[in-house]
Amino acid sequence: MDLNNLKSDPIVVVGGGFGGLATIQALLANSDGTSVILIDIENRFLFKPLLYELLSGELQLWEVAPQYSDLASELGFIFLQECVVEIDVIEQKLITSSEIEISYSQLVISTGVTTDYSLLENLQDYACGFSNLNDLRIIKKLITKINNSSECSNPIVIAGAGPTGVELACKISDLIKNRIEIYLVDKGDKILPNSKSFNREKAIDAIGKRNITFYLNHYIKSIKKNKIELFSTGNETNNFITIDFSALLWTAGLKPSKSKLVQHFLNENQKIKVNRFMQIDEYQNIFFVGDITCYENAPFPSSAQVAMQQGSLVAQNIISSRKGNELKPFQFEDLGEMLSLGIGNASITGSGITLAGPIAFEIRRFAYLMRMPGFLLSFKSSGSWLFSKKIINRLFSQSP
Ligand SMILES: Cc1cc2nc3c(=O)[nH]c(=O)nc-3n(C[C@H](O)[C@H](O)[C@H](O)COP(=O)(O)OP(=O)(O)OC[C@H]3O[C@@H](n4cnc5c(N)ncnc54)[C@H](O)[C@@H]3O)c2cc1C
Repeated sequence: MDLNNLKSDPIVVVGGGFGGLATIQALLANSDGTSVILIDIENRFLFKPLLYELLSGELQLWEVAPQYSDLASELGFIFLQECVVEIDVIEQKLITSSEIEISYSQLVISTGVTTDYSLLENLQDYACGFSNLNDLRIIKKLITKINNSSECSNPIVIAGAGPTGVELACKISDLIKNRIEIYLVDKGDKILPNSKSFNREKAIDAIGKRNITFYLNHYIKSIKKNKIELFSTGNETNNFITIDFSALLWTAGLKPSKSKLVQHFLNENQKIKVNRFMQIDEYQNIFFVGDITCYENAPFPSSAQVAMQQGSLVAQNIISSRKGNELKPFQFEDLGEMLSLGIGNASITGSGITLAGPIAFEIRRFAYLMRMPGFLLSFKSSGSWLFSKKIINRLFSQSP
């Protein structure tokens, strides 16, 4: 790519996750011919809500993680695979790890979050998160090892009983056919504290049918090789347990990806506090989108849904600011929640509908695949299973 041949005033988006790609799609839909550049460290967009189905083999890599180069030629933006290491707000330019400098007229930062391995000593050495393709490869290997072994192993411990911990526990339990126990540990007194009550009930049912044990009101105090110390948050005298584990999966804490890049903008909670227009007041030509942001007066969840809605709004605001028009404030529209609860099973709450079981699983998969950036790509990937006769028969032959 020749950066010297760009049309003037490029809009640059750093981070091509849900927030970044939604921004780009909305910018290009209302294009005035301005060049739009996406910079991402990775070569693929990752549809994280479908990572569980990638783990289980219910979906394939090309369906869940399209290449940015394909999206770029389909949607009409410029893609640069680089890690941005510095933002020069005075000169209005970005510097990448290979020392490329890219000027911007407007900048969107949507670099997301990743597992925070600094929360406990030895966490980085003995635990694995579940937020990227590398984590997925490690957990796939673990599952193969368990399934190929005739010995009975120690339990798998999953830290965090939010959506990722619960969904991962159900999927792994099915993949290892309940052969070893899974412990689901959380400091809180219930699983999925921020989820819809119907989904929580269905998750409790799904967990009850599997070889999964809760350790609620417990936190991991220390980690050694294959051993954790678990403390109860209650007042009982015997409040300490040692557990030998075969694997420790960490879903209990996130921090901004490449936090040095955004260090300057972070608040004490490691988030970027934005105004209603997704900006920081000092920098009118920089917008922030997705999981790295927080907004004090109307807290919204860290989710793909929020990131996409923010991305669309930011694109509108960029276009408005270029025309000298007023900016619009962000308002979150809650479209509901879908949970993956093991192989072929899911739970959905949204738009007045509550549904669980195999049909919910198909609807969840369909709904997510149709949201894949780039209409043609989503059509191609969803088409691979949507038009399977078996699935259509299954969808329409269910009794109400
Ligand atoms: C397993 C899992 C399941 C989930 N399920 C759901 C769900 O069912 N529903 C839901 O709404 N949400 C779900 N989420 C949350 C959702 O995926 C996130 O909220 C969403 O991805 C946030 O979008 P984002 O744009 O802020 O960041 P991300 O999607 O994380 O994208 C950030 C991008 O920035 C890039 N990047 C980072 N630093 C740099 C840098 N310095 N230079 C260049 N590029 C950089 C990264 O490579 C990445 O591509 C799930 C998350 C996980 C991990």
